[in-house]
Amino acid sequence: MKEPRALPLPGSLPEERGVLFLWVRRGVPLAAAAFAFLGAAFHSAGRGWWLLAGVTALAAAWPSFLRGEAFLRNRTAVRRQDSIWAHAFRPLARWLGQEDAWILSYCGDNNRRVREAFSDRRAKRALILLPHCIQMARCKAGILDDLQACYDCGLCPVGDYMNLVLTNRWEGRITNRSHKAYREAREFRPDLVVAVSCPDRLLKGLTKMPEIPCYVIPLGLPHGMCVDTDFSVPHLLAAMETLVEPRRPSGEVQALRHEGIA
Ligand code: SF4
Repeated sequence: MKEPRALPLPGSLPEERGVLFLWVRRGVPLAAAAFAFLGAAFHSAGRGWWLLAGVTALAAAWPSFLRGEAFLRNRTAVRRQDSIWAHAFRPLARWLGQEDAWILSYCGDNNRRVREAFSDRRAKRALILLPHCIQMARCKAGILDDLQACYDCGLCPVGDYMNLVLTNRWEGRITNRSHKAYREAREFRPDLVVAVSCPDRLLKGLTKMPEIPCYVIPLGLPHGMCVDTDFSVPHLLAAMETLVEPRRPSGEVQALRHEGIA
């Protein structure tokens, strides 16, 4: 009989600040506001227009200051505006060769705010979304239809994920299309989504589902896009333990395991 592998241990959630995104998201409108108010001070002609431009710029910066409950209450508007900024500066970041760094900085800013919002009140109905490309390409286990079809051979992260789902009674979906993931999320009506994907899809998800708080974890792409991708299972575990109300029944510590090979 195959010896069960030890389940991954939770680490601590990485400190994410999204400094690059925050500097641009907050700094550009604040600088514009300062410029407009200086214009109003030194140009008496058209002062009203300068003032209007300054107030508009302050209003554009304001959502970046919302935190905790205020962020959750206004999350749809905040995420819509943040996504506009992320998309607007993406071509420049691409031109500078920093596209992924820019998107991941946006994700980091989002994660910091989600983490602050759920620090006092953990999520009760969380949903995990994973892409199908985490399954090893040559594995024939039908995990899209039934996660427990995985043989837990240890060759890809699905086995560890399955064991954690069974042990902790998490709700999760593995999908091979983004639109299916969005549909599943909307049907489930979670109060938090923990999503794993590549930077491009994370940005798309944060843009398409502004109404759902999302903590996002980037995929590793050791073999390129969409093939045998990888992610940190301990990071997922840490996110669930930090942000989500535990559902694990006391005394149950060992997951059911399959025997077999991929
Ligand atoms: S059987 Fe192995 S390769 Fe296939 S999904 Fe499970 S862990 Fe991955």
